[in-house]
Amino acid sequence: VKSQFLIDLENKYGAHNYHPLPVVLSRGEGVHVWDVDEKKYYDFLSAYSAVNQGHCHPKIVDAMNKQAQTLTLTSRAFYNDQLGPYEEYLTKYFGFDKVLPMNTGAEAVETALKLARKWAYEVKGIAEHEAKIIVCDGNFHGRTTTIISFSNDENARKNFGPYTEGFIKIPYNSIKEKKKVLQSTTNMAGFLVEPIQGEAGVYTPDDDYMMLAKELCNKYNVLFIADEIQTGIARTGSLLAVCGNCSCEGHCERQASSYATPDILILGKALSGGAYPVSAVLANNSIMNVIKPGQHGSTFGGNPVAAAVAMAALEVVEEERLAQNARVLGKLFRSKLNEYIKTSSIASLVRGRGLLNAVVINDTEESDTAWKICLALRDNGLLAKPTHGNIIRFAPPLVMNEEQLLDCVSIITKTLKQFEV
Ligand code: PLP
Repeated sequence: VKSQFLIDLENKYGAHNYHPLPVVLSRGEGVHVWDVDEKKYYDFLSAYSAVNQGHCHPKIVDAMNKQAQTLTLTSRAFYNDQLGPYEEYLTKYFGFDKVLPMNTGAEAVETALKLARKWAYEVKGIAEHEAKIIVCDGNFHGRTTTIISFSNDENARKNFGPYTEGFIKIPYNSIKEKKKVLQSTTNMAGFLVEPIQGEAGVYTPDDDYMMLAKELCNKYNVLFIADEIQTGIARTGSLLAVCGNCSCEGHCERQASSYATPDILILGKALSGGAYPVSAVLANNSIMNVIKPGQHGSTFGGNPVAAAVAMAALEVVEEERLAQNARVLGKLFRSKLNEYIKTSSIASLVRGRGLLNAVVINDTEESDTAWKICLALRDNGLLAKPTHGNIIRFAPPLVMNEEQLLDCVSIITKTLKQFEV
């Protein structure tokens, strides 16, 4: 009754720009959330991979509370005592010279696109208004007018035009197509890519795709721009997914440079552990220095609360070895589900890396089977959401332990069994 009342309020007074699963949450701790009737669930979405460090992590909450009581916002009209230490910590953590702090993921993607264009004109020497950026089919980079201009999702695009020009779309995971475009088109500024396409349904490219894509970028002097908003910060079993294939088991968290190091790295979501909107664009001086005072910014970008929260959130990732945990539990998750899938008529495939996984349901994209399964999962105490009619994403907080993961696997397989014919 209480849930329905709250759902009705959102329906009546809120824009209908989402289609939430009918569950009203009021509390979270670690891998769990509770609804308004005190029913407990495993969170298997983690706010689209923002809550990697678990709900209300005490260290992150403490940092936020402390800073919120001290100084919240100065704007960048003045310096503040949190931003510099955070910028030093963040850039050293990921191995870049500089960071440009923003708030949401889409803003950070916009920032990266502007940075790449400016670099193309001022460093590479492309004629004004001629710069092009390569993007991939099936991409999801956010909701601004420019970003949806190069989306394939008609729902995200339709009737929001006119669209921003200057983007060339190629198939995801195709080095051949990328080479073709680079050979045939001049004026190329950058290549924007998700190391794993999360929203599209956790499409995981070939192991060498990132490395080969980066090599091509180097060859043609094109910036390799990695959108790690969903895949980054330990989600896929390494600090960044672009270095997720290296063999340095357990040691690669600080060596993003050892694999396909991006020229521009975009982070968001788990950069704050889901406590606060914090995003960032990282690059070396040769790129970042094209931005001069007054040319880009945000009132809240780099505010002291964001800086304190993000620093605590990154410390948690390291202290609690979340990348290693995601790697070990991810393998276990896929192996357990593969065991079930062998004999299942309802689930046909599990794919992913670390704790970013998806199960493909044996039905059409237009069906509502995945939605119905998510309702049943909810009833059985686990919250997940379809990315498409037949794909369910499974992305729990990375602070999960093995016993909890096995409990979740049994909830998931038990629920899927209810749908077998
Ligand atoms: N890029 C990727 C890969 C994402 O997954 C998302 C959000 O899901 C975004 C960008 C946009 O982030 P935000 O919703 O914070 O604007």
